[in-house]
Amino acid sequence: MYDVLIKGGRVIDPAQGLDGKRDVAVSGDKIALVADEIPAMECRKVIDAAGKIVTPGLIDLHCHCYDGGVPDGLLPDDAGVKQGVTTVVDAGSAGQAIFGGLPKYVIPAARTTVFCFLHLGSQGLSIMPEIRDWEEIDLEATAAVIGAHPGLIKGVKLRLVGNIVASAGVKVVEMAKETAGKFGLPIMIHIGDLKRQVSPTLTREFLPLMESGDILSHVFTGNMGSILLEDGSVMPELRAAAERGVVLDIANGRNNLSFEVARKGMAQGIMPTTLSTDVVLPSLTTLVYGLTVTMSKFLALGLDIKQMIEMTTINSARALRIEDRKGSLKPGMDADVSVLEILSGTWELADSVPETLRVTELVSPVLVVKAGKVIPSAPVAQPPRIG
Ligand SMILES: [Zn+2]
Repeated sequence: MYDVLIKGGRVIDPAQGLDGKRDVAVSGDKIALVADEIPAMECRKVIDAAGKIVTPGLIDLHCHCYDGGVPDGLLPDDAGVKQGVTTVVDAGSAGQAIFGGLPKYVIPAARTTVFCFLHLGSQGLSIMPEIRDWEEIDLEATAAVIGAHPGLIKGVKLRLVGNIVASAGVKVVEMAKETAGKFGLPIMIHIGDLKRQVSPTLTREFLPLMESGDILSHVFTGNMGSILLEDGSVMPELRAAAERGVVLDIANGRNNLSFEVARKGMAQGIMPTTLSTDVVLPSLTTLVYGLTVTMSKFLALGLDIKQMIEMTTINSARALRIEDRKGSLKPGMDADVSVLEILSGTWELADSVPETLRVTELVSPVLVVKAGKVIPSAPVAQPPRIG
C-alpha cells in the first residue's frame, strides 16, 4: 500500500530523461515507484494530475528567507511550498554574526527544506551595501559557523558591491574562496552593481578564479559588472567559466535581470544552468512573485518547459550537492514532488530595466507533495491576468 499516488500527469524528470504520462507513488517520505499505471486501490490518497505537469520538487537556489533577521526577509514557505517549491536556499542573508536565528527559529518553523549560503561579511545583508569596512570580515568566525552547521551551509556568498570590494576587488573574492575551500564548498558570487562603485573590469578579473560548481548569481544582469562587453558580445572569461562547469544562475530579483542581456547571452550560446528568484518580501507581490513566474519569463524568452524543469530540479540539486536525494523522482529519493499547470491568457511580466514582456502562458503551481504530505499551492500573490 502506497501513501500518495499522483495519477495521470505528464511527468517530466530530466535527471532520468523522462517525459511522458506516468503515475508516481510515494511511501512515507520517499518516492516508491514511477510507472505507466499504478492502481488507485493500492494507495491511501490519490491525486488526479490529468492535464498537469508533475516534476521533482522544485528548488529555488536563491531567495532571502531570514524572516525577522534582516530587512525584507520572507518566510521560507512563502517562497517555498506555497509556490510549488519544495526546497529554497537562503543566499547569504546572514553572515557569521547574525546567522544563529536561521537554524534556531526560522528553519524549524518551515515546511520547506532550507539550505543556506553564509555571507562573507559578518553582518550579511542587515545593512546594504555590506562590507563597508575590513572589520566586517572575520574569516575565523566565519569558518567556525560553517563548521558548526555541516549539511546546512552549502557555501560562501559574496556580493561584488560596496566600499571594500570597490577598493580591493579580486582580493575579497579570494578570501571567500579560501574560506569555502576549507570545507570543500563552493562560492556564490553576485555580479551587478547598481551604485557603480566597483571597477567595470572586475567581472573579467575574478571569473578566472571560479571553479566547477562555484555559482555566478545574476548572470543576465544589465548593471555594471554584466557579462557582456561594450560591443554586446559575451566576455571570453564567462564563456570559459561556463565550459569549466561554473553554475550560471539567473537569480531574477528586482534589480539584476535584463531580458535584453538574456536574449543576447542565449543567442550567443550562454544558457543558464539554474533558474532562481532572489525573491524578498517586497518582491513577493510585484516583479518577481516566485519561481514559476521566473519560469514563465524564460518560457516567453524561448526556453522550453523541459529545459526549465532541468534548471529548477536536477541542476539546482547538483549545485547544492544533494542530487543523491533531491532533484529527481527515482525510487528512494525524497518524496518532494511539484504539480504545475500552464495557464493560457495574457500577463505582463517585467525585468529590472524595466522592459515588459506580454506573455500568453503562465506557469502556475498547483500543489506539492513534501516529505509525503500534500500541500496545495497558495502564493501570496501572482501577476494579474490582463486578458
Ligand atoms: Zn540575493
